[in-house]
Amino acid sequence: KAVQAESAFLFYSEEMNQRAKEHLRIESELRQALQHDELQLYYQPKVSLRSGRIVGAEALLRWRHPVRGLVSPGVFIPVAEETGLILELGNWVLEEACRQVRAWKDANLIMPPIAVNLSARQFDRQLPARMADVLQRHQVHPEQIMLEITESLLVRGTENVVAIMNELVAMGLALALDDFGTGYSSLAYLKKFPISTLKIDRSFVIGLPYEENDCAIARAIVTMAQQLRQEIVAEGVETAEQMSFLRELGCDQLQGYLFSQPVPADDFERMLREGKRL
Ligand code: C2E
Ligand code: CA
Ligand code: CA
Ligand code: CA
Repeated sequence: KAVQAESAFLFYSEEMNQRAKEHLRIESELRQALQHDELQLYYQPKVSLRSGRIVGAEALLRWRHPVRGLVSPGVFIPVAEETGLILELGNWVLEEACRQVRAWKDANLIMPPIAVNLSARQFDRQLPARMADVLQRHQVHPEQIMLEITESLLVRGTENVVAIMNELVAMGLALALDDFGTGYSSLAYLKKFPISTLKIDRSFVIGLPYEENDCAIARAIVTMAQQLRQEIVAEGVETAEQMSFLRELGCDQLQGYLFSQPVPADDFERMLREGKRL
């Protein structure tokens, strides 16, 4: 027995060791990625369920690893969060999104707002000043940028967070609450925060319209968000059935493979120029 337990322990610690090594490797390679221009933003359109038109997009980070190819943010964002590297990554994302919006504006494109994901770690007292700086340098109007934040921030929920949010909103930036329903905040709790958009997490969209529980959750979120006068975006919409159900509920926007996967800037620009519709 003792031998068994010991080898199980050895096995376990070996696994931990591997994980730690993997993290270290990703961390150091990420630092290089920042320096060597291996990062890129993809854009996934958000479409209005009423007009069928593109009314926004979410910028999603991609890493073109010289050996491993395209690495998913699901792999490297958690490592970046743990190591604090997310601050540098986050700054890079803000710079790049503003640079791209400026370039599109200069090319006379009519641009819907572009949403950028913010880590909770980026959310501090300096954020409004950092936002003002990057917008100013690229001559981008705050209405062009939306910030997607997650519920973990609200749960941390001090006066501080509300004050910073109010500052951002006063500057003209819009805030969206990402992955709604997966965290701990209740809808009633949401009233305290100046959030204009709720994004229903993909995990509740997957089962529509066949899973009763998912339908009930989606319905509850949409109904209450309407009362709070928030826009509702359903993420991860893949089927026409999901779309019809969400439209009937009164959901405002859809984002998902049904309309488009996240695509490079040029492809998104083409969709805008061609007026691609749902
Ligand atoms: P998220 O913010 O919830 O982004 C939505 C994710 O769902 C994206 O995954 C997108 O590609 C995927 N998705 C969209 N529509 C569909 C669909 O119809 N079906 C399926 N199966 N998936 C769909 P992605 O790009 O791999 O990003 C994963 C997560 O990584 C994001 O989840 C976000 O939390 C994080 N992330 C990505 N870019 C950034 C960034 O610039 N900063 C930070 N802090 N986090 C980021
Ligand atoms: Ca997001
Ligand atoms: Ca999301
Ligand atoms: Ca999600």
